[in-house]
Parts: sequence; C-alpha cells; structure tokens
Amino acid sequence: LTLAERASLVGPLDYKVLKTIYELNSNYEYVPYSVIINKLGLVERELKEVLLKLYNLKLVSKEKVLKETGYRITFAGLDTLAIKKLYANKVLNKLGIIIGEGKESNVYFGYDFSDETIVVKFHRVGRTSYKNIRKIRGIKYKEDWIKLTIENAEREFSALSCLTNNYANVPKPLGQAYNAVAMEYIQGNELYRTNLSNPEEVLEEIISNVRIAFQYCGKLVHGDLSEYNILIREDGKPYIIDWPQWKKDDEDLLFRDLTNILYYFNKKYEIYKDIDQVINYIKGE
Ligand code: ADP
Ligand code: MN
Repeated sequence: LTLAERASLVGPLDYKVLKTIYELNSNYEYVPYSVIINKLGLVERELKEVLLKLYNLKLVSKEKVLKETGYRITFAGLDTLAIKKLYANKVLNKLGIIIGEGKESNVYFGYDFSDETIVVKFHRVGRTSYKNIRKIRGIKYKEDWIKLTIENAEREFSALSCLTNNYANVPKPLGQAYNAVAMEYIQGNELYRTNLSNPEEVLEEIISNVRIAFQYCGKLVHGDLSEYNILIREDGKPYIIDWPQWKKDDEDLLFRDLTNILYYFNKKYEIYKDIDQVINYIKGE
C-alpha cells in the first residue's frame, strides 16, 4: 500500500490511538498495552482490533515489555499524523505519488484545496546518520529519532519562511506538521542533470541567494549546498532546496558551501571565481 492509501485507511479511532501512542512515546520507548488502555478507556476488544490494524499497516511497531506488549510509532505512523494534520489545517487536500526517496527524507507530490500541485517532504532521521547528527549538534545519547526528525522539519520550515519573506529563490513553505513540510512545487531538474545555456547568470543568482540568507536571515548558512540541492526551474531560475541542516554564523561552513558550488561551475562550465571575493560580497564587506 502507498502512504496515501494507508493514511486514508486510518479512521478517527485509529488516529486517536496512534496519536496517543506518539504522545506516550516521549515517556516510554515502547508504550505498554496497559498504559494505552488506561489512557483511552476503550474496551479491550476494540483497542486490540485497532492496535492490530495499526501494526498491520506498519504505523506502529511492537515489542515485549515485561509481561505485556509495548507499542511505538514508526516513521510511516508519523507521516500519517502529519498528513491528517496538514489536511485539518487546509494545507494538503490529497497526497500524491512519491517523487524521491532519500536517506533523510521522502518527498511526495500533493494537491492543495485549489487542486494545485504542491510538495510534501517527510523527514526521516535515519538510524545510520543518527550518530553523526548527534555528534554535529552535540545531542545527548538518550535523545531519540522522533524528536530529531520533527526538529528537522521545524528547522527546514523556519529557514524557508525567512528566506521566502526576503525574496530568496526557495520553495515557498505552505505548512508544517510533525515530520512534514509542505511547500511550493518547483517544476524543473536538479542542477547536476541540467545543461545550462547561461551558467554565469545562474551562478550569480545562486550566490545572491546565499547572500540573502546570510544578510537577512541572521547569518543563515545552508550547510549542504551542492548541485544536488539546487533545482533549475523551467524558466531557468535556480532554487535552493533542502535546508534542515542550516547553521548560523558559521564561516567555515559558508566557505565549504561556496567551495562546492564554485568547484562545480569550474569543472563543468570552466567559470572561475575568486572565493575570497565571493565571501566578502556575501558578508557585505
Ligand atoms: P533529501 O536530499 O534530504 O532527501 P531534498 O529536499 O533534497 O531532500 O529533496 C529530495 C528531492 O526531492 C530533490 O532532489 C528534488 O528532486 C525533489 N524535491 C524536493 N523539494 C522539491 C520541490 N519543492 N519541488 C520539486 N521537487 C522537489
Ligand atoms: Mn537533497
């Protein structure tokens, strides 16, 4: 079943149970059955049926805790809560097909209430990269992936909001819920698989967007700028995407971002720009 199909199978009672498990997961790695039933006051048969359905849809996982079964929300479970909330907030009317499955996110087409195409990005802090993120952000050992995943969505949404308010070329953020960010759909291709007819202009525009972030969004630095995170829209405009790992006031990171981009344009289009001059321009010195 697709994510959209699974979400549509989740009825009001299923949703209530799923949300309760999510909330209790901040106290329990696996929420014991007895805790769930006490919290919800459902009859045993009814709850068991719902839990089985959520488990079969892979929205929760389970494990034996002491003498009973414990439940934990999965990434797909979080996605489902996000879909329902974006719907309630009138951001997302219908989820479409998947665009891309990355290491750190799944990106889907969606349709808003005017039937316009939008994009919904569901963050996933993978278990493989968990250690690195912990190292980079200095996060305590015990802190878990649900929190980190939601935090990534919040971070991406806040960056896109500031950037959009300052007229940077980024997808306009439309809403955020749990691990999901809904945003404008940019029709085009990634820079790495585009042959530009006007590479100088495009590079200038990328640099001026990096400058907007730094100057108007509190020294915001993307942190993973590359030919993979720039979309070239059909009209030729470059859009910088994929912002959850941003940092503020980090000149080494700014240097690395620009090195990546300048290297790419140098290698593919034989354009040479002095990095120190570019950095001075971005810092406004
Ligand atoms: P990640 O690399 O962490 O998986 P990205 O934000 O880079 O996440 O998105 C992955 C892919 O999804 C992009 O390379 C792009 O093809 C597509 N995508 C993401 N956001 C949009 C958007 N707003 N419009 C169109 N396509 C998008
Ligand atoms: Mn990316």
